[in-house]
Amino acid sequence: MSNRASRTRSPIGSSRADRAVRALPAILLAAWCAGCAGGAPSPAAPDEGPYVLVLGTAQDGGLPHVACTCVRCEAARRNPALRRRVASLALIVPATGRRYLIDATPDIREQIDALPAVGSHPRGSVDRAPVDGVLLTHAHAGHILGLALFGFEAVHTRHLPVYATPRLSGYLRTNGPWARMVAREEIDLRETAYGASVPLDHGVRVIPLAVPHRDEDSDTVGYRIEGPRRTLLYVPDTDGWSAWDPPLTRALEGCDVALLDGTFGSADELPGRDVSKIGHPLIGDTMRLLEEPVRSKRVAVYFTHLNHSNDTVDPKSAAAERVRAAGFAIAAEGQRFPL
Ligand SMILES: [Zn+2]
Ligand SMILES: [Zn+2]
Ligand SMILES: [Zn+2]
Repeated sequence: MSNRASRTRSPIGSSRADRAVRALPAILLAAWCAGCAGGAPSPAAPDEGPYVLVLGTAQDGGLPHVACTCVRCEAARRNPALRRRVASLALIVPATGRRYLIDATPDIREQIDALPAVGSHPRGSVDRAPVDGVLLTHAHAGHILGLALFGFEAVHTRHLPVYATPRLSGYLRTNGPWARMVAREEIDLRETAYGASVPLDHGVRVIPLAVPHRDEDSDTVGYRIEGPRRTLLYVPDTDGWSAWDPPLTRALEGCDVALLDGTFGSADELPGRDVSKIGHPLIGDTMRLLEEPVRSKRVAVYFTHLNHSNDTVDPKSAAAERVRAAGFAIAAEGQRFPL
């Protein structure tokens, strides 16, 4: 049985894999430091293994949140270091020079600028193929609006693969501006199925998992991202974990790292609204649910998709400190997770 098969069936074994994962926090911290040096994106060496790059960690409205003048958003307008781009990941495969996006956000211009220089891309002109594919989680604004910039008015790609469930594909095929992009062959829709592996490149594959969420225009998926050495689960947007069947703990089996919905930190953080009715798990609920696997270092859990009202968006806050003290972490732009 391959390493992959044994790892998928049982979370973390008791041998070499176990020791490797116990060393994971140190590896991840080193990776994080390498990725967060600031300035221009650091190039990836061609012999470097595939990895996930965090391109954004904010809820759909961003930070500063669109049209919000709360103290935190105003501070982020004054100080770019406090800003957070909308939640998105890149999958980078230095050996083949390929770059994939998970979700296409309203911050896509800066997020494409933040991609490492792997592969051959033209200099001095518009790159008509800046990425090799886009994997969508669902149709909410923060997750698909950026796709429009691959169209005629901006990048004008040719046959850019866009991976989406049949329902989301149907929505894109029948609603502008996406429908025109399909007709112009700027994007090619590749329909995915829950639980069915999508081989991407060089031993990297993704598996869409059904996620309960407010499914108005499309259904919602998270992605299990499997590389030659490690597996990462990405679920930026979900209803509370009690709605998951099978449960989250099952989805985490065999995963070394999880980037999970951390939209809200407390039930009363939005004035006049009970956030428990909006339908996201509170960070504290997730920490309670995953206390044991995190404490025993079976999985490293990072929160992402943070709302501007969530105190953990400030790494210096007491809320962020409580998350770290419990062995969890807040995802950061530029962070890299080797696969
Ligand atoms: Zn969202
Ligand atoms: Zn705000
Ligand atoms: Zn959503």
